[in-house]
Amino acid sequence: MDAKLYPKSPTILWFRKSLRIHDNNALLRATQVASQLYPIFILDPYYINPEKIGYQRFKFMLECVKDLDKSLRKYQSRLLVFYGEPVTVIERCCKAWNCAYLCFEKDTDIYSRNRDKKVLERMKELGIQCLVESGHTLYDLDILITKLSGQSVPTQMTGFLKLIEQVGPPPRPIEHVPTIPPLNELGNVDCSSVPEIDDIPGYSEFSSECNTCPFQGGESVALERMQQFLKREDWIVKFSKPHTSPTSFDPPSTTVLSPYIKCGALSVRLFFWELKRVEDSHSFKTKPPTSLIGQLYWREHFYLLGYTTPNFDQIQGNPICKPIPWEYREDWFLAWERGQTGYPFIDAAMTQLKQWGWLHHLTRHVVACFLTRGDLWISWEKGKDTFEKYLIDGDWSINAANWMWLSCSAFFTRYFRVYSPIAFPKKYDPQGNYVRYFLPVLRNMPSKYIYEPWKAPLKVQQDANCRIGKDYPFPIVDHEEMKKRNIQRMMQVFQK
Ligand SMILES: Cc1cc2nc3c(=O)[nH]c(=O)nc-3n(C[C@H](O)[C@H](O)[C@H](O)COP(=O)(O)OP(=O)(O)OC[C@H]3O[C@@H](n4cnc5c(N)ncnc54)[C@H](O)[C@@H]3O)c2cc1C
Repeated sequence: MDAKLYPKSPTILWFRKSLRIHDNNALLRATQVASQLYPIFILDPYYINPEKIGYQRFKFMLECVKDLDKSLRKYQSRLLVFYGEPVTVIERCCKAWNCAYLCFEKDTDIYSRNRDKKVLERMKELGIQCLVESGHTLYDLDILITKLSGQSVPTQMTGFLKLIEQVGPPPRPIEHVPTIPPLNELGNVDCSSVPEIDDIPGYSEFSSECNTCPFQGGESVALERMQQFLKREDWIVKFSKPHTSPTSFDPPSTTVLSPYIKCGALSVRLFFWELKRVEDSHSFKTKPPTSLIGQLYWREHFYLLGYTTPNFDQIQGNPICKPIPWEYREDWFLAWERGQTGYPFIDAAMTQLKQWGWLHHLTRHVVACFLTRGDLWISWEKGKDTFEKYLIDGDWSINAANWMWLSCSAFFTRYFRVYSPIAFPKKYDPQGNYVRYFLPVLRNMPSKYIYEPWKAPLKVQQDANCRIGKDYPFPIVDHEEMKKRNIQRMMQVFQK
């Protein structure tokens, strides 16, 4: 950076997704240009809506914000929290603090891009320079796009792997946290400290039923969690996603770093290079796309697709999405969402989703397939919105991409491969411990009937204290029948 071009001046550092101080390009840049540094976080009314961003997800994000504030305080600084429309808040702050620079990290989802466009335009009018850095992905996505030389982004992983092979490995993370200047006088600016979730309008009423997530947000927890995994070198080099178990939940069979990566509490570049270090010290290692590094490539691939594909999160106007003629039945959708389909594995998973805000990848597969092409023939957009609300790792690009995948709307075409809500979990967990944990009503059901309790004789149901139709629902559909019918429908779509 040419220091002459950037004489030191008061600077706002706007924290959005990268809720961390390690490996933070915007933070580094801000410290280079700031005579005084004002770290801000904006609670945008667009996101403050429990119907859209559920309690667990909001709480996890606030925990990350709180941890960031704690870290900044070690430098005699702190996070200045504002409520309001970002352009208005930033303009007010810039004027009050006489700022010359606004630093933030690039966001790629559609809402953020539109928001940032407005911010950039207004800052230009005010003569404030915006310094925008990449940092939420392994690569700067704009650099990947230039390497495509006008070609569209490959929709298959093999094509994506070829692209990044041309580019070389991603940049290494920043080694040290830069010195963060202490916070100056704030003048006449009305800001708050980091709120508790129950202080946010609309959320407090969910507090009693929703305080069930076992994962705590924050950069310090994220780094500690990553370090714990890095000690398991043998596990890392043998990691193969399809061989992990959807029904292992204590502990889960994958890292559960997704919520931390999503909130930017953990730098994806740092995680990548730590995994690479472990892999390089072993002669044997699994390879992308099934290895752990391969999982980060899935993320990167879906981010790049989300960034370049119009209307990526919907069917209409989305050039890579097959327009399948889905139908909507409110009672079926609500049964799925509320975990009352009568299929214990589906219902346990949807309960876990709401209680934990997280599900194993293959469990996500099964419930997504059930809602769409497997059983209920309901649009993936509905399922995507439910996941978006409840997942603490709810991520615009990754969520939409995976829902398109599971519903055979894009990427995946083997529509005749349908997950059975009975046989599939039985393979991993014949005793049904996962179901018993998340659905206590079925706790005493004999293993023989745990995935098909409606088949249990009445006496067995009575002994298990669970009468089907009274304590737990009958299946809303016949899986085998729906599967056959829907494969036929899919065949027609694919023949067109
Ligand atoms: C229908 C559906 C919706 C999904 N929605 C989301 C979402 O909103 N947010 C989200 O982060 N993941 C989503 N996933 C992908 C995946 O299920 C999760 O990333 C993964 O289960 C997170 O657990 P983990 O951190 O233990 O993963 P690990 O297996 O430990 O993988 C490490 C990291 O790689 C990334 N990753 C792993 N799998 C994928 C994948 N298939 N696609 C993209 N990135 C991946 C995540 O950042 C993850 O933390 C979805 C999958 C499906 C089938």
